[in-house]
Amino acid sequence: MKTMVRNGFSRFAIIVLFVFVAYLHGITMPCSANENGPKNLILMIADGCGSEQYTLARWLKGSPLSFDSMLVGAVKTFNASSVVTDSAPAASAYATGHRTSDKFISMGPGENTINGIQPTPPDMRHRPLATILEGAKLKGMATGVVCTSRITHATPAAFLAHTASRDLEDDIMVQAVHQGADLVMGGGLRHLLPGEKKSVRADGEDLSLILARNGYRIVKTGTELETLKSGKVFGLFSSSHMEAELDRTVFEPEQPTLEQMTEKAIEILSRHTAGFFLMVEGSQVDWACHANDPAHLAGDLIMFDRAVGVALRFAEKTGDTLLVVVSDHNTGGMTIGNRRTSVTYPRMTPEELIEPIRKMTLTASGIWRKAQGSRSRLEGLIEQYWGIKTEKAEMERIMELAEAYKKYPGTALGEVISASRTAIGWSTQGHTGGDVPLFAFGPGSPRGLLDAQQLGNLMASAIGIDLKASTERLFVDAEAALAGFKVWLDKGDGRNIALRAKTKDIEAELPVNRNILKLGEKTVALEGIVIHAEATGKTYIPKQAIDIIKAASSPMQ
Ligand SMILES: [Zn+2]
Repeated sequence: MKTMVRNGFSRFAIIVLFVFVAYLHGITMPCSANENGPKNLILMIADGCGSEQYTLARWLKGSPLSFDSMLVGAVKTFNASSVVTDSAPAASAYATGHRTSDKFISMGPGENTINGIQPTPPDMRHRPLATILEGAKLKGMATGVVCTSRITHATPAAFLAHTASRDLEDDIMVQAVHQGADLVMGGGLRHLLPGEKKSVRADGEDLSLILARNGYRIVKTGTELETLKSGKVFGLFSSSHMEAELDRTVFEPEQPTLEQMTEKAIEILSRHTAGFFLMVEGSQVDWACHANDPAHLAGDLIMFDRAVGVALRFAEKTGDTLLVVVSDHNTGGMTIGNRRTSVTYPRMTPEELIEPIRKMTLTASGIWRKAQGSRSRLEGLIEQYWGIKTEKAEMERIMELAEAYKKYPGTALGEVISASRTAIGWSTQGHTGGDVPLFAFGPGSPRGLLDAQQLGNLMASAIGIDLKASTERLFVDAEAALAGFKVWLDKGDGRNIALRAKTKDIEAELPVNRNILKLGEKTVALEGIVIHAEATGKTYIPKQAIDIIKAASSPMQ
């Protein structure tokens, strides 16, 4: 009894002491937004994925998804110009903490916004907005982007670049090359190199020379990737997009998986003592759902789950990493249950749901590629890769729809077979407007039903980034800031557009989309990229450039 009292008392004394010390600490230490916050942030986006897709993946996997236990809330996905968002404004909201307009890549919204959206203040419209990646760089953190699309595609672009349209992929690649991220992995060589197979770089510039000069290693295969241990890297594993997970082993076995890329990215970035920000996108979940293709969806979503598993194990081990897993919107409106099951659903067995999809070992578009337009070959391939002996009516419908879908004939396959042979329903070939589940693990985890831009701000502040201050530091209206200078946009031959600023003493040149300031003989690598906003005619440059130009034009007497 005595012992218990004594122990009870000493415990009380320790608690009092602890509370007192904590109080002293609280009043003497300046509080920052991320005190006890995470050192690292890993954001993983399953593009175009809703809750039914996750449920399907769980049934197929036969065990919980790696992020099931991380469910913390949901995200409202609409953007500034539409109830149903596309990837560019959706990813921009996560990247910058601002809702924006369709097509915009991390630029402030345009004039026309839908009802229910706060009108955009004029000075925010069409202006570059700093991203979490840029904010992390300013803090001295390491940064990386990993995806299975071209790295110039909407979601990765929203973290690496600022353009008025997601379609300006040549410009996005120039910005990505000059952004200074430590690590970029995905597809898209055709926007980096001239003469690359199916190269689309209109200006013929070889951007790999700039990467080499800036100390990057360029790797093109999974084997090369495995040899990397540290350093700055551009891993571009395909001319255009990377292969779907199911198709990879058949068409391009040398491409790494999303899991391999994620593992390597974390290995390299975690060497940096100041922490890191990494965005990983399972890009093709979205395309699978656009194509109404359960095979493509299963392959890529289960691979995404494995990639999250890698990140979660790292976060659990280190304890100082915030891992956020989310989608940007739903695509395809997939349902477990379709017209075939309208009456029979109360008796649906797991086998009825799982078996038809388990038999699918190539995507619909992969089958279509192999068929090369031949109906009889297509019939054989559907049997070979999907285990289905098609009936005449099915084949006729597939051929008819394929003709109608022109650019994406493979979509016909998913649509017809989903309806006739599986329990999977689809409501659209586009995106849908519902909320998407939000998963998080680690210090600073967001929770609740959040607006997309709110999630962006919460993630940024968790790692101590002030996005507003970062925007003010990186993107200053050059003409307004350089009063007394003649400032103009030199369009040159249309390829090397540059901002020029001139007084009687000096002339400065700042090539658009690059982080370069040329001042007489001197060339300075800037901490941010020069962005020209076509809609307003304004050019934005880092405050650092303004300071250097002003100092050079008024030398100390
Ligand atoms: Zn998307």
